[in-house]
Amino acid sequence: MIKTPMENVNGELYIDGVSTIKLVEEYGTPLYVISEKRIRENYRRLFDAFQKRYTKVRILYSAKANTNISVLKILKSEGAWIDAVSPGEIYISLEAGFLPSQILYTGTSVSEWEIEYALEKGVTINIDSLSQIKKMLKKKTPSTISVRINTEVGAGHHEYTITATKASKFGVDEKTALKIYDMAKKAGVRNFGIHMHIGSGIMEVTPFIKSTEKLLETAKKVQEELGIIFSFIDLGGGIGVPYKPEEKEVDIEDFASKLVEFFKGKVEDLSLGQPELWLEPGRYLVADACILLTKVNVIKRTPYRIFAGVDAGFNTLIRPAMYGSYHHMVVANKLKEEPAEKYDIVGPLCESGDILAKDRLLPILSEGDVLAILNAGAYGYSMSSQYNSRPRPAEILVMNGRYEIVRERETFQDLMRGQRVASWLKA
Ligand SMILES: *Cc1c(COP(=O)(O)O)cnc(C)c1O
Repeated sequence: MIKTPMENVNGELYIDGVSTIKLVEEYGTPLYVISEKRIRENYRRLFDAFQKRYTKVRILYSAKANTNISVLKILKSEGAWIDAVSPGEIYISLEAGFLPSQILYTGTSVSEWEIEYALEKGVTINIDSLSQIKKMLKKKTPSTISVRINTEVGAGHHEYTITATKASKFGVDEKTALKIYDMAKKAGVRNFGIHMHIGSGIMEVTPFIKSTEKLLETAKKVQEELGIIFSFIDLGGGIGVPYKPEEKEVDIEDFASKLVEFFKGKVEDLSLGQPELWLEPGRYLVADACILLTKVNVIKRTPYRIFAGVDAGFNTLIRPAMYGSYHHMVVANKLKEEPAEKYDIVGPLCESGDILAKDRLLPILSEGDVLAILNAGAYGYSMSSQYNSRPRPAEILVMNGRYEIVRERETFQDLMRGQRVASWLKA
């Protein structure tokens, strides 16, 4: 599972020419290490696969996967736009230099001030409910809107990551969509998109095709009934990456070829014009571009288990605890050694659920060893917390043998930030 630009240099894990052990000595653990090269490779592989089959393709990076501003800048320089799901992500994306017109804001359970913020910043709003469009049009008529359709074709690696089923909170049904577009058009909106996002961690193209079919049929209905010609059709994100050694990568050429072929054919059949095809990948672009380094604090043998207690917990990386996700791990300073024992890799939190891996076969571990948790770039740092009053880790960016800190490790002062003692509690 160690893939380029990671390599085994005399039993030590390197990432794009930089020793992970050296990074740990310099910056401590836990430590997120991001490879710029890998992000660029992932972007280009995906973009090229689609662009050579459909020139009007646009990739919006789904910022919630990893909101580090250096990551945003890397993707901006590749030509990506942004899929933002909160005002905070709009803010960071603008700070990173994206133009408002390059940001699509897809909220859910959107409040009045969030609508105002998005309107004021001039980003494109992707509507998630009838209530949202009503509130928005009372404030202002933007030039462009899009509507998130619930195509009722869900897919994903976990129940919590499926976002388009009958019971899903996301998007609207076709009838509601017609009402929304009608209201928007009457209010003077001139430019339209249509959107779906069916889930996350999807390794097959079939659910995308099924859902695209429904989306395009809805687009046709809207076109027929309201005379709206869509300028963009957004198929969302959700392309998965392998986390387990036995899992295969999505063959992106095959994926793009099947999806684009279907899309082109259907757009032509339904006479939908020449819309741009938008995609919103998060995980695919950043997951395998980052590792989490964590030190073994304690080896504890009980009559039942062998525990390796490390300094990263679900405060640092929540995916194993939240979704039961598998993250492959290697011992960064023992790459030459053979697997020998099964460990439960557990974190420092006072929670029984603070488990990063169970029964993980690894070389004999000693205290002080450094584990590299792979594929930690998506929904890693961005889902971290200060739970148990543990400051968040640092993030390092590496590129071609260079490395730099791109987010400082939090301190105890960060735990107190904004806290105040109530006046009546002051002595
Ligand atoms: C989370 C999200 C994505 C990205 O999902 P990935 O699985 O990371 O590709 C795209 N679009 C929307 C609206 C999202 O909420």
